[in-house]
Amino acid sequence: MDGQYLPIQEAKLSVLDYGFLHSDATYDVAHVWKGAFFRLGDHLERFFCGMAELHMSIPYSKAQVAEILHNCVALSGFESAYVEFICTRGTSPDFSRDPRDAENRFIAFAIPFGSVANEEQMERGLHLAVTDVLRIPPSSVDPTVKNYHWLDMVKALYAAYERGADTAVLLDTNGNVSEGPGFNMFAIKDGVVSTPDLSVLLGITRQTIFDLCAEMGIQCHAQDIAVEDLKSADEAFVTSTAGGVMPVTTIDGQSVGSGEVGLLSKRMMALYWQLHEDDRYRSVISYPGSTEQ
Ligand code: PLP
Repeated sequence: MDGQYLPIQEAKLSVLDYGFLHSDATYDVAHVWKGAFFRLGDHLERFFCGMAELHMSIPYSKAQVAEILHNCVALSGFESAYVEFICTRGTSPDFSRDPRDAENRFIAFAIPFGSVANEEQMERGLHLAVTDVLRIPPSSVDPTVKNYHWLDMVKALYAAYERGADTAVLLDTNGNVSEGPGFNMFAIKDGVVSTPDLSVLLGITRQTIFDLCAEMGIQCHAQDIAVEDLKSADEAFVTSTAGGVMPVTTIDGQSVGSGEVGLLSKRMMALYWQLHEDDRYRSVISYPGSTEQ
C-alpha cells in the first residue's frame, strides 16, 4: 500500500478516499494454490480493463502488479491465499468533488484462501434462495468491471438467510437469473451446461468452466436462464475464485435433480483442481528461503 509492504493490521486507508466514501473503486481477486497463482494473467487483464473503463490509472504495468502480488504472497508465507488488488479513486487534494482531480490509489493484500462454501456445504451442496432482489442493471454499473456495489447482494443475503438458505441468487432486470454474492451461476440440463450472459461479472472461474467443457466436448452456453429453468435443472453449481466450483443441491427448498451433488458437477470440481497442476495456468511463487522455481 502506498509503495510499502506492511503487516495487514497496519494497512489503513484515509476516510476521505472515494473508494470508501462512494464505492468508487475496482478490484480483482486471484488465488494461490499450493504455492502458485492460478490464471494470474487473466485476473490482471480484467483489472486493467476495469481501471481503463473507470478512467483510473496506477503507476504500475501489469508485470509490475504481478511482481507486487508475488511479493505480498511470498512475504505472507501462505501456500494457499486469497489475493485482492484494488484501485480506488483516492483522495482529492482540496476536497474537490470532481473525480478527475483525485489521485488514484493502488492497494494489494494476501490473506489465507477463503471459500464461498464451507466444508459441510461443499459436501452436501449449497442451499440457494432465488430472491426478488435485482442486480444493479448494467446500464447503471457495468458488472464486468469488478466493483464494490454490494448493497443489492447484501440485501439478497439477508432475504436468503430469513428463508433458511446458505446464500442467494439475484435476478436481472428481465427477471432472469443473474449472479450471487461473489459467484456465477451454472445449470445443467440434459448434459448441456449454461450460465447467464448478461448482468454478470465475467468470472475467471466461469471461463475455466467454458475451457473444461470445450476440452471434454460438452456444450456450454452463455444465455438467459429463467428461474423455472434453473429450478428444473438436473444439476446446478456456482463458481468463484473463492472456492472454485461449488455444488448446489436445493433451490428455494426444492431438490435440484436427485438432491445429491450431481455427477457432472463432481467431475467439474475434480477437473478444476486438476487444472491447477497445469503449467499453462500456474505462476509459481518464490518464497524466502525456498529453492523451488
Ligand atoms: N460475480 C461476482 C459479483 C463476484 O464478485 C465474483 C467474484 O468475486 C464472481 C462473480 C466470480 O468471479 P471469479 O470466478 O473471477 O472469482
